[in-house]
Amino acid sequence: MKVTEHIEQARGKTLFSFEVVPPPKGGNIQELYNNIDPLMEFNPPFIDVTTSREEYIYIERDGLLDRKIVRMRPGTVGICASIKHKYQVDTVPHVLCGGFTREETEYMLVDCHYLGIENIMALRGDAMKHQRYFEPTKGGHTYANELVRQIKDITRGKYLHDVVEASNRPDFCIGVAGYPEKHLEAPSLDYDLKKLQDKIDAGADYIVTQMFFDNSKYFEFVEKAREMGINVPIIPGIKPIAVKRHLQLLPQVFKIDLPEELIHAVESCKDNKEVRQVGIEWCIQQSRELKDAGVPVLHYYSMGKSDNIKAVASSVF
Ligand code: FAD
Repeated sequence: MKVTEHIEQARGKTLFSFEVVPPPKGGNIQELYNNIDPLMEFNPPFIDVTTSREEYIYIERDGLLDRKIVRMRPGTVGICASIKHKYQVDTVPHVLCGGFTREETEYMLVDCHYLGIENIMALRGDAMKHQRYFEPTKGGHTYANELVRQIKDITRGKYLHDVVEASNRPDFCIGVAGYPEKHLEAPSLDYDLKKLQDKIDAGADYIVTQMFFDNSKYFEFVEKAREMGINVPIIPGIKPIAVKRHLQLLPQVFKIDLPEELIHAVESCKDNKEVRQVGIEWCIQQSRELKDAGVPVLHYYSMGKSDNIKAVASSVF
């Protein structure tokens, strides 16, 4: 079922969902299941599976170091299929512009359709670690709105190089990213919102936000988006702080602000066990307020760990 259909069916009740990250190449999928298992009691109607950008690794060959670009966490579509089958829930593969040609994207979408996957999260992807700015892949898209258009074209039976007349069209429900504190490259929130509007105009059906720790940022973002005529569901994405290092890491990587009160509470902790508890309590307060405000879904970034999400969900759902 589509994410938007789940939301409609819930009739105003806030749903629980979360995102998982594929294991590193050669890793064990059982570890992923071990993280999903404890969260299934909260009945997620859908689970997102991220796609990683490629990175440089060094390989020794004939005594010389060779630099190669590889994807360290492949398998998104396969994992979506296995989760869908194992848990009987819908899955949402994240599809990126970066690292994929349009043809490769098309093949991935064909696989998704054959596997009964009905939702796609369309993203540009970040720059690779060694790059200062995002560089489009040769033959790939530059911005997420172009990717949305390609997905939408396929739902209309328009493939890149038509071979036969499309007789069985996928009807993907398309999610895109939104940034309550603006995307790091955007000169202003208004500019970024116009680009968000482009993604909706291209055919996106719902938005999932970047994480935020101050709900007022989300409420203001939704208000501005509605004023602009963006009427699709805007799902808040949140995450509990888990370690002290997050105080530097999260603002640095995601260009988001942390409220002074939260910074102070984390800094006063004597170890990461205490930080974890502070992070859970903050996330519970955030979740309760968002739920009371009637958000369609509370979407949690698990980042490979589910115990703290379970602690939050147990108090909220
Ligand atoms: P876009 O919408 O293309 O926007 C990128 C920037 O370009 C913005 O600053 C925007 O304002 C600007 N822009 C957009 N269109 C234009 C245009 N036509 N002309 C000029 N400027 C334009 N990353 C991963 O690698 N894997 C994942 O699985 C993943 N999942 C994510 C899930 C969510 C919910 C979120 C919020 C982010 C996720 N990301 C993921 C991170 C995401 O890939 C990055 O934030 C990326 O830098 C931007 O992606 P986007 O789809 O928002 O890009």
